[in-house]
Amino acid sequence: MEVKQPDLKWNGTPQKLDSDDTKNSIQHHMAHPSWDIYEVHAFHRDSNGWFGVGYNYFVEFNGDIYEGRGDRVGAHVAGWNDRSYGVGYQGYLHSDSTGHDQQMTDEQVESGAWINAKLLKDNPHLSLDDIIGHNDVSATACPGNNFRMDELRERTQQILDDCPVEEIESQLEKKKVKLEEAEAKLDKKASKIVALEDEIKQLKEDKDQLEEGKDQLEQIIKSQEDELDERDKEISKLKNKIETTKKAHKEDVRDLKKEKDELAEALENDIKALQRQNDELEEEIKKLKAQLGEKVELDLVTALKFVVEAVKQAFSKGRD
Ligand SMILES: [Zn+2]
Repeated sequence: MEVKQPDLKWNGTPQKLDSDDTKNSIQHHMAHPSWDIYEVHAFHRDSNGWFGVGYNYFVEFNGDIYEGRGDRVGAHVAGWNDRSYGVGYQGYLHSDSTGHDQQMTDEQVESGAWINAKLLKDNPHLSLDDIIGHNDVSATACPGNNFRMDELRERTQQILDDCPVEEIESQLEKKKVKLEEAEAKLDKKASKIVALEDEIKQLKEDKDQLEEGKDQLEQIIKSQEDELDERDKEISKLKNKIETTKKAHKEDVRDLKKEKDELAEALENDIKALQRQNDELEEEIKKLKAQLGEKVELDLVTALKFVVEAVKQAFSKGRD
């Protein structure tokens, strides 16, 4: 048995189903007595406006199985599409007052069992009980009271039981691959954790270094502040010194002025005294001059007298 690939034109591409998250395989009939995969596809795409046929697989009367959405998200039960597979069956498999009384064919039971067995094998977390009808999850007649659900499940179990060794091995291989993928994911996460731990360690070291640097800076700032304080002290000392020197200088100037005034006064007194002495001396000189003048006059008289006497004597000798 095989799944056929119909030649369908899609109106877009549905998302992939997360196969780890699938819960059920849900069975539907088409509620139409004759539509095949192409007609269902056209109806779902053009009338419903979907990407295309809503079922993941479609089983026709003769047992042909067609892939619809396959392993992509279907459109068959609102709220269940992204966690279930939908298997559609050709026909109106329901007897009701409308007069329909179409039966599910043996080929449909066989092919339905085969595709469900395949889904269970491909999704090992699914079991026989997960094969359900649309009416198990919604208020609907689908897949119809002529749908042979019990037989389908029974046959599915038989197919699974008859599963040849190679298939079991291939299932095991698939599981192994999945396991390895999971392990690889775990390894990746573990190495990410290690990398994160390294990063955290590095960040801690950086933080320690920064704190150390901060301490050093604080010490430098403190020593500079101390130095500034020291300088301030020196400056105020110098200011005091300058102030003191200025004061002393002012006092010196005052003393010098006083001294100068005293000297000037003494000098003036000296000059006055000298003046007085000078006046006295001049007075004395005058007196002396006067005395001297009298004396000279006297001397002249005496001299004249002498000359007169001498002349008289000369004259008298000459006469002798
Ligand atoms: Zn349905």
